[in-house]
Amino acid sequence: MKSVVFLLKMMGVVVAIPFLIPVAIVLHRLDRRRLRKAANQAHCGSCGAILGSASLQRADEVWAEHVATLMRDRPGIRFRLIRHLRATCVVCGAEYDFDAARGVFVAMATVA
Ligand SMILES: [Zn+2]
Repeated sequence: MKSVVFLLKMMGVVVAIPFLIPVAIVLHRLDRRRLRKAANQAHCGSCGAILGSASLQRADEVWAEHVATLMRDRPGIRFRLIRHLRATCVVCGAEYDFDAARGVFVAMATVA
């Protein structure tokens, strides 16, 4: 009986994948659009510059470098990472998380 239930669940997953992938793509694009809109209206708390789309791209690059460094330094480890870095000011380098509930960027604490 358990194998029949498992088989039905697996068939449900296979049937749902063609619908779930486009939904995931649309949700990702909506999230990026929301971030971009908020970044174009947000000012850096350190230097006053508008964060803009460039700050999102810079944060993506910084995060990719961080993950690459982790994987290079600790090969074979499966990381479970939660990304908080969403924007990096291109003028001064201040880092920001995104508060999705309020739709604003929040300065991240710096480690001395
Ligand atoms: Zn700045």
